[in-house]
Amino acid sequence: MDVLIVGAGPTGLTLGIDLARRGVEALIVERAEALFPGSRGKGLQPRTLEVFDDLGVLQAIRAAGGPVPMRMIWKDGERVGEQPMFDKAEADAGTPYAEPWMVAQWRTQEIMYARLLELGGRVAFGHEVTGLEQDAAGVTVRFADGTTARAGYVVAADGGRSVVRRAVGVGMTGEPVDPAPFLVADVRLRGLDRGHWHAFPGPEGSGVMLCPLPATEDFQLAGRFPEGTDLDLSLDGVRKIVAEYTHLDAEDVTELRWASDFRPRAALADRFRVGRVFLAGDAAHVHSPAGGQGLNTSVQDAYNLGWKLGAVLRAGAPDSLLDTYAEERRANAAAMLNLSTGVHRGEVRRGKATMQLGLGYRESSLSVETRRDPTGVRAGDRAPDGTVSGVRLFDVFRGPHWTLLGADAPAVGVRALPTAPASYGPGVFLIRPDGYVGWTGEAADGVGAYLAGVGV
Ligand SMILES: Cc1cc2nc3c(=O)[nH]c(=O)nc-3n(C[C@H](O)[C@H](O)[C@H](O)COP(=O)(O)OP(=O)(O)OC[C@H]3O[C@@H](n4cnc5c(N)ncnc54)[C@H](O)[C@@H]3O)c2cc1C
Repeated sequence: MDVLIVGAGPTGLTLGIDLARRGVEALIVERAEALFPGSRGKGLQPRTLEVFDDLGVLQAIRAAGGPVPMRMIWKDGERVGEQPMFDKAEADAGTPYAEPWMVAQWRTQEIMYARLLELGGRVAFGHEVTGLEQDAAGVTVRFADGTTARAGYVVAADGGRSVVRRAVGVGMTGEPVDPAPFLVADVRLRGLDRGHWHAFPGPEGSGVMLCPLPATEDFQLAGRFPEGTDLDLSLDGVRKIVAEYTHLDAEDVTELRWASDFRPRAALADRFRVGRVFLAGDAAHVHSPAGGQGLNTSVQDAYNLGWKLGAVLRAGAPDSLLDTYAEERRANAAAMLNLSTGVHRGEVRRGKATMQLGLGYRESSLSVETRRDPTGVRAGDRAPDGTVSGVRLFDVFRGPHWTLLGADAPAVGVRALPTAPASYGPGVFLIRPDGYVGWTGEAADGVGAYLAGVGV
């Protein structure tokens, strides 16, 4: 097998989908018997919606979600004010999705899983990885039932407590973000409208939020409690919390569907690659859920790695292309940790930065800017949407190929639009399979050499 992906969370499923559509032989192994049941990462950022558009799940994600509701602040059973959850942004020709979209994480995962199966991918449930050994030719993975499997590459998509990360001896460097205990739970309740994200502030920074989850009957309860609180994750425990922090009665909570507690910390894996093993998603970075970055960053890790593994395994690109995964995504994750810690502490607002549209790889060794005096879109930038002669760019980009804007196709495997969009500024632009500008020039001279270096 080419690639063994450990964990069927958002990271593993994204990578599984991307590799399946590239014809790479991959298997996802998952410890649990079924997909994760909780709503935790429910805010899909605009950049993730673009990725989902490319992966063919956007329509289903749209149908399964809704916009982020306004925050309604309550005090002593009275509504005392309404606030937007983030700074508003308008969609435009380059940015079709300008606001986050809310979908319960379990639903997002169901949609991704269905897409994976449609593309011929597979998850082996009930397979817990306990360790691995690697040699020059591949990796042997050990399972809890004593069996083993062999793969060319292994991707640790096994979450914050990653066994694979430990097996390859990679440490996490970081710090606690908040000493207070937090609770997240999915509940059903009566007595609150489903048009608001209800906030019930308590004493000394404690409090409870109840957010309706679109296309379900559930609310996500998220709470911060005084240091030293011993959280009870049973239905009774959650009922007591709701009765203490809100004007609802304990019995108004009719069902508890899932609950989890945690203490936010921000930490980054010291390396994202060890030989034939890659760390991605929560296995590579953990942080506060504030600002909704976790799932989104995880999806984008996998999206960055997918085309590179495809190029090395299917097109003979050099192994060094895989080093650029760690180069690009580790820097990105480090910035994201600061951002989510800032949002958690109330120092940074949810807005432009949390939507992830401005993230890019200008500093990457894969970003080659050959124009003498570049203006507009640069090598390393996200390739914006737009139209050329009535053709939508995102329609041209959709799929596993490279795209050249402003010249004829220089190689098989590259799609071309001979006219570059005026909105990009002057030049010829080579767009990577993951929607970033890899190379730019005044003319197409030199693009062939760049493409040869990445296996095209
Ligand atoms: C309580 C909580 C609240 C959160 N709230 C938000 C939020 O509001 N917004 C947001 O964007 N993000 C939030 N997140 C983060 C978001 O849920 C994660 O970033 C996202 O799930 C990461 O995806 P992943 O696939 O990397 O890891 P996970 O979703 O953790 O998936 C890892 C998978 O690997 C499996 N696995 C683990 N060990 C093994 C093994 N040894 N062998 C085989 N399989 C294994 C697990 O069963 C799991 O299915 C929250 C996280 C938590 C814990």
